[in-house]
Amino acid sequence: MRTHDRLRIAIQKSGRLSDPARDLLARAGLSFRESRDRLFCYGESLPIDLLLVRDDDIPGLIAEGACDLGVVGGNVLEEQACERLADGRGEAFRPIRELGFGRCRLSVAVPNDWEWTGPQRLAGLRIATSYPQLMARWLREQGVEATPVMLSGSVEIAPRLGKAEAICDIVSTGGTLMANQLKEVAVILESQALLVAPSQPFGDERAELAAMLLRRLDAVMSVRA
Ligand code: ATP
Ligand code: ZN
Repeated sequence: MRTHDRLRIAIQKSGRLSDPARDLLARAGLSFRESRDRLFCYGESLPIDLLLVRDDDIPGLIAEGACDLGVVGGNVLEEQACERLADGRGEAFRPIRELGFGRCRLSVAVPNDWEWTGPQRLAGLRIATSYPQLMARWLREQGVEATPVMLSGSVEIAPRLGKAEAICDIVSTGGTLMANQLKEVAVILESQALLVAPSQPFGDERAELAAMLLRRLDAVMSVRA
């Protein structure tokens, strides 16, 4: 049983959100001593520790109570929230701050040479994605039936490989789409890094620590804005 007089924040171990998350926490006055396995960082300036993990694991760690707060993209958070809803599991985590980095969007893209006449153009086709829940939700909203093709990576090459006709993937600059002769035709979700907390408030010392951290983050972010 871990003590609840320290706060534990999960951030991405290595990837697009790692450095900006660590910079933001450093500017809020947090400093850490890294453990040898580099998975856990002990908070030196405040009783706030870091856990370094894959971004996809962060919502689950918060849901289980293994971490108290997390930094994760809205795309990952929303996908997992929809998955919990679809499985009949209750709401377990919620975004509490937009952090202003890691901006991207989840979009539908089709081959350059298609004439895009609207979402109905996708009816009956195969769409490759790593975000089956968000894609299914959007297709339902559009009243379109299509076949999802689940891929965990390299989604953008699926049309060239003949695995799907279209894709639904994360886009930031559009360079990857262009390199694969695809064009963006619909934005499903606008995303950025979010600070995430459990849906249930902390009933112990962690509440004070979290409130203090939020005050510091808000101050730091208002300076940058
Ligand atoms: P992990 O090993 O932690 O699972 P990953 O490959 O899933 O890493 P990254 O590619 O580092 O993760 O992306 C992390 C997050 O950064 C994404 O979930 C998204 O919110 C955000 N992001 C911003 N721009 C992009 C982009 N161009 N492509 C992918 N993700 C982006
Ligand atoms: Zn990931």
